[in-house]
Amino acid sequence: MKTPALLLTALVCLATGCAKHDASPAKAASAAAQVDDARLARADSEPQNWLAHGGNQQAQRYSGLDQITADNIAQLKPAWSLDFDTQRGQEATALVVDGIAYVTTAWSKVYAVDGKTGKALWQFDPKVNGPNAAKNCCDVVSRGAAVYQGKVFVATFDGRLIALDAGTGKPVWTTATFDPASMQAISGAPRVGAGLVFIGNSGGEFGGRGYLSAYKADTGELAWRFYTVPGEPGKTDGAASDEALSKLAQPTWFGKYNDYRGGGNVWNSIVFDPEFDQVYIATGNGYPWLRTFRSDGKGDNLFICSVVALDAKTGTYKWHYQETPGDIWDYDSVADMILADLTIDGQARKVLMHTPKNGYFYNLDRKTGELISAQPYIAGINWTLGIDKKTGKPIDNPAARFDQLKKPFTASPGEGGGHSWSPTAFSPKTGLFYLQAVDYTTGRHLPRPTFEYVKGLDNIGTYHFASHAPGETAPSPDPHAPKPDAHLLAWDPVNQKAAWKTPGSGGAVLATAGGLVFQGHSRNSVMGELTAYRADTGEQVWTHQTPNAVAGGVISYAIEGEQYILATTGQGGGSILAATPDVRARQVGRLVAFKLSGTAVLPPDPPPAGPAVVVNETWSAANIETGKDLYLNRCARCHGINTRSPNILPDLRRSPTLASQDTWRSIVEDGALQANGMIAWKAFLPEGGAEAIRAYVAGEAKVEAARLTAAVAQ
Ligand code: CA
Repeated sequence: MKTPALLLTALVCLATGCAKHDASPAKAASAAAQVDDARLARADSEPQNWLAHGGNQQAQRYSGLDQITADNIAQLKPAWSLDFDTQRGQEATALVVDGIAYVTTAWSKVYAVDGKTGKALWQFDPKVNGPNAAKNCCDVVSRGAAVYQGKVFVATFDGRLIALDAGTGKPVWTTATFDPASMQAISGAPRVGAGLVFIGNSGGEFGGRGYLSAYKADTGELAWRFYTVPGEPGKTDGAASDEALSKLAQPTWFGKYNDYRGGGNVWNSIVFDPEFDQVYIATGNGYPWLRTFRSDGKGDNLFICSVVALDAKTGTYKWHYQETPGDIWDYDSVADMILADLTIDGQARKVLMHTPKNGYFYNLDRKTGELISAQPYIAGINWTLGIDKKTGKPIDNPAARFDQLKKPFTASPGEGGGHSWSPTAFSPKTGLFYLQAVDYTTGRHLPRPTFEYVKGLDNIGTYHFASHAPGETAPSPDPHAPKPDAHLLAWDPVNQKAAWKTPGSGGAVLATAGGLVFQGHSRNSVMGELTAYRADTGEQVWTHQTPNAVAGGVISYAIEGEQYILATTGQGGGSILAATPDVRARQVGRLVAFKLSGTAVLPPDPPPAGPAVVVNETWSAANIETGKDLYLNRCARCHGINTRSPNILPDLRRSPTLASQDTWRSIVEDGALQANGMIAWKAFLPEGGAEAIRAYVAGEAKVEAARLTAAVAQ
């Protein structure tokens, strides 16, 4: 069959990443957002701006502004807020260039906002196709944009990288970063430097190989690509990674090759280091999770769960450090990488600091990749017996290799990690590194006896979200086990020890020259607050309620001599783990700004969610049990474990469609709401599966209705 020219062009573009220009020719770069390499390199000299995702090129999330201090913070009040047009998960860090804030929202939409008034100057909607939502664990979130050379770059959830004119929000070029038929998505922010835009992708729970691409900022042409895990032995990709994969990575993979195995996705942290002209990438877990299913139970599986340094111009390998060799616990190494010059053991070192999920704080030498030091930043770690000082590698704990042992294992930390993607900060003023951390956090892994890849499902080789394996008696909790202890942690990276801990669970942090650390929090799942602490002691000095949880980035900027604190608000995509009984009505996400003597009033908290729907039908116990199993493996990652949703995505117990078998089926099986991301699940459900799920959810709705009635009666 002859291939139509248009299709051929599309296929070539997928292979090479060539750019598609919009009908109107690219205009001259806008006068707005004139950010270049020289300006980025001296970002610290203009603290009124927040030019890069991590504030500066060292990604320190440190603001040099010092107007707001512990002495005057009582006067810190809302300056303005801007409603987004979506209720979905919000995780973005905004950028500010010359008084204009650029922020992304769920569904990869972009806003340019007047930093003084909060007025939207332009908005761009890439119109992401709804069904893509099913290609990620944790909703259609976006962690931010990049600004460079008069353009705003956004990577869309469906894999496009789009350059917008910073002055108008109109697309200048668009390119596809992956095959739309693949099970990948993009939630991360692009980064820029050396004339290039760097972007990775998510998909570590859905099969396939992770990679980072570098595109020319002016044209969108693919400059190079680095795959983080090897493909078929003996074959090359024609990519920058070819040599490193064949020489270093391929020998660490065993078992039969198949085209779904891989992982190592670069879904969060990417740092361009102009000092060494190199790019650091932080990679995620291997796919499937269990090494027995992806590598015959052997091997380190490079470059999963690693930090890899690449030459910025060519993408060729420079060095790597693997933090969790042969990972089976979902210990993504994607946390923010922060660069700093530190004096360690009397020696001046160029350091990359990293706090991945596996619970260790790493100092790596940026020039060589040498491990300078590693210490646990949380208590309770049991996946390793410690780090071998000679080899720099973790010592395997055979008891933690639950896939080889073929029995359940309670790992510490659990899959949420000691810390995951949530932004971290380093203050050159205090010399401390600030992060949200949790001691003694655990997760139970239940290995499946066999693995079958099903494209479209997040099957990972375990009974995910289940409390016990089929046929196993659920273990009773150990009353003597230490309780998980979440806190804001200030870590002394030079001496590798805690400086202080302030209890509480929270999100992104920001350190300022005013001697403060700001952190976003959630309150009853979807409401929240912004809080400030003394950077040297951790003493809380200020808090202000925000209508939404604050999962996204917190930054600072200044206009006309006034310092602002800006937070992207809205619960994060992984919030199903944070559901509380007090379910609230759904609400839009917001951008919220504070300044001294601000006079704005923030919108009110959302009211309690509506009643649970009581369905007067009965189903067999077997039907309900089938429904529960299907729910856990198909529905829970969006609608909440055990149907307890914080209402970022709808709480199904409160869905009126629960009462109608036909409407329910049209949504669950036929995709009536696929524009919202609720795909047609027919292909992934057995006959009668949708009805079994309805039976299970209706039972849970009844329990919720009774709980609400009892609460009113009290
Ligand atoms: Ca993961």
